[in-house]
Amino acid sequence: MSTPRPRPALAAIPGYKAGEPPPAGAETSYKLSSNENPYPPLPGVLDTVTAAAGEMNRYPDMGVRALHAALAERLGVPTDQIASGAGSVAVLYHLLQAMCAEGDEVVYAWRSFEAYPIAVGVTGAASVRVPLDSDARHDLIAMRAAITDATKVVLVCTPNNPTGPVVHRDELTSFIEDVPPDVLVVIDEAYREFVTDPDTVDGLDLMRRRDNVVVLRTFSKAYGLAGLRVGYAVGPAAVAEAIRKCSLPFGVSVVAQAAAVASLDAEVELAQRVKELVVERERVWRGLTDNGWAIPRPEGNFVWFGLGAETSDFAAACDAAGLSVRPFPGEGARVTIGDVEANDRVLQVASRWRAERG
Ligand SMILES: *Cc1c(COP(=O)(O)O)cnc(C)c1O
Repeated sequence: MSTPRPRPALAAIPGYKAGEPPPAGAETSYKLSSNENPYPPLPGVLDTVTAAAGEMNRYPDMGVRALHAALAERLGVPTDQIASGAGSVAVLYHLLQAMCAEGDEVVYAWRSFEAYPIAVGVTGAASVRVPLDSDARHDLIAMRAAITDATKVVLVCTPNNPTGPVVHRDELTSFIEDVPPDVLVVIDEAYREFVTDPDTVDGLDLMRRRDNVVVLRTFSKAYGLAGLRVGYAVGPAAVAEAIRKCSLPFGVSVVAQAAAVASLDAEVELAQRVKELVVERERVWRGLTDNGWAIPRPEGNFVWFGLGAETSDFAAACDAAGLSVRPFPGEGARVTIGDVEANDRVLQVASRWRAERG
């Protein structure tokens, strides 16, 4: 007897592995496995969300008008260039669905964000992974060489999750000048608020100057709204419209829309929290470097331990110390910058590790 069968393309798609919860145990434990923000909601946001929850019998505004208007004003772009969804991962799914089908190719650096192979795979398109260079940065020369007539989209993750470095303005500008105009370049800036490198690319700036550039941003990381799921794309009006056509209706909930608008209004507090996390990131990076670790320059809210074969052992040592981290076995472990005590514990575990293993 035959049974319903999913598309063959799905067989090759890896499942998404979410970050582990903090380890259970006697001492305080910390979840540093999902690049979440350790702060409670920004001032006013919880009240706004509570009030909005009273409207849960109503569908949300399908056009997400209040949020798109607030973003348009802030970013200086017309609302027809914006599309939003349940996290920027959802927006990426919709974008890839709008652009790609079987036989097409999507080029991206690897290792990079683990949602990419899944989001590409469900469209039936093929992933073309270009290894990071020896500094754990995008190799844009090799990425340019990987573009073929079948390439529809190139994904650029800056800062790169999970390794941390940014792509620089000059290198991405020359790259894009050399990319065929019918290939869409997606700049994923999920961590842009944390970036301090003055040479970093600004996706919006490039988007304004080219017809084939889209920027993805999210409220999940710096804004601390990961649990509510809101992200957006800014790009050429035709691409934004195509994304909206592929979006699930009412994908951004009543409370998520309200929380995002209220969070945009809390700019001063947001900047203060981002600053504190960046100070902590620099403290952790310096501490590890002084301790002899070779950690790629972190520009997001996480650091990368490129431990290769020792990765799982390191993750186990973290776990034993009450820290859940994000191991990629055989490659390395990504550790989120948390609050001060959590970061102190990371430094202790890392220092002990070196003392024991050299
Ligand atoms: C966290 C993250 C996102 C955003 O995820 P949401 O769906 O908005 O929560 C996008 N890209 C990268 C690289 C990320 O790490």
